[in-house]
Amino acid sequence: MRQDMSESLYQKAVKLMPGGVNSPVRAFLSVNRSSVFMERAKGDKIYDVDGNEYIDYVCSWGPGILGHSHPKVIEAVKEACERGLTFGAPTRNEIVLAEMIQGLMPSMEVMRMVNSGTEATMSAIRTARGYTGRDKIIKFKGCYHGHSDGLLVKAGSAALTSSVPDSAGVPASYTENTLVAFYNDKKSVEELFEKNKDEIACVIVEPIAANMGVVLPEEGFLEFLREITNKYGAVLIFDEVITGFRIGLGGAQEYYKVTPDMTTLGKIVGGGMPMAVYGGKKEIMEHVSPIGKVYQAGTLSGNPIATAAGITTLCLLVKKEEKEGLYKKLEKKTTRIASSLRKIGLQVNQKGSLLCGYCTKQEVKNYEDALTSDTKKYAEFFSYLLDNGIYVAPSQFEAMFLSDAHSDEDIEKTCRIIEDFVTVQVGLAHSAVQDRMKD
Ligand SMILES: *Cc1c(COP(=O)(O)O)cnc(C)c1O
Repeated sequence: MRQDMSESLYQKAVKLMPGGVNSPVRAFLSVNRSSVFMERAKGDKIYDVDGNEYIDYVCSWGPGILGHSHPKVIEAVKEACERGLTFGAPTRNEIVLAEMIQGLMPSMEVMRMVNSGTEATMSAIRTARGYTGRDKIIKFKGCYHGHSDGLLVKAGSAALTSSVPDSAGVPASYTENTLVAFYNDKKSVEELFEKNKDEIACVIVEPIAANMGVVLPEEGFLEFLREITNKYGAVLIFDEVITGFRIGLGGAQEYYKVTPDMTTLGKIVGGGMPMAVYGGKKEIMEHVSPIGKVYQAGTLSGNPIATAAGITTLCLLVKKEEKEGLYKKLEKKTTRIASSLRKIGLQVNQKGSLLCGYCTKQEVKNYEDALTSDTKKYAEFFSYLLDNGIYVAPSQFEAMFLSDAHSDEDIEKTCRIIEDFVTVQVGLAHSAVQDRMKD
């Protein structure tokens, strides 16, 4: 497969942008390749600037649940553009979208629209702090909630008592109030609450962790978080930026029947446009400006193009779910891919249309387990798939996403290519031996 144009664009881009990209994982550094520059996408396919076609399992990291460029979404965006790109004033469609979200996710009594998942989680935490009058927060190792300063932490050497910045440029003082617990480890959460009684504003968690591959909550874990936050008067925030409208119309909170106090949404909610939402209980959200003392604002928030794309996407999801059982269908297709990944010896975690195949023999229940993956082997697997027209995440620690547009034919083709990887590897090992014998 020739990628000459892509390569030459990449060489130009690295002079203009750090790593040649506007978000790190696009740089393919962890799979030792140059980024592929994309030109257009339709349905389950994405096309690079050299004209190569790929079956896409990245789906823009989650938003693309209907597949790329759904005609109804494109039409809604075009119509909205004709009326004006931004007004900096309220519009009717913000109400329509808010009512739809509330209808699907009743815990969202009051909400605020923003432009990115990072903004949503950052603002939700600020609101939880303003509401409780407390400073400390608990997050889980391996969960990602965007790139705001206070959330870029790793557990310090004295794990469970201190945390340190996980990025240069973040002052230690910005993360000293962020406590790090371990996913699926109730005891780690209990200890933090006991040591910091009446000081913890909130617990923020991905109800299904989808930024360390895909890690499912063990039975009772989310219920436990609900109980302990209630007990200590802390706010429970579900970061459903990935799982919202992905695991089902009501997100992970509906699926697991655990109701958080606050929720953050992103990705699918904007239908491919920059849009995210935070919200929850009325008594908490009433602390947000202009009626409350927690300040938060945005010039382009609730943007008319993004709301149009979001409304149309949610409408289509609801219609497809009612008519044809969309989420069951998505799960079935995803299970087919999962079985192929298992066949070649990967450890697979899946929920609905989210999945990850880890290059490890170990069951993956938390971040430490995920780290046992052979990332070199993953890089080989990634390259093999890409060269055969299958586009998956260029990192072992990102999820694979399926969309309604993935055809059975393309799924079968993908499975055949995945299952052939073993033969190719044997071939590789064989030629490596031959090369060595030549030396
Ligand atoms: C993607 C993601 C974010 C950050 O969203 P951006 O729009 O990239 O800022 C936050 N939380 C979770 C769970 C995510 O997957």
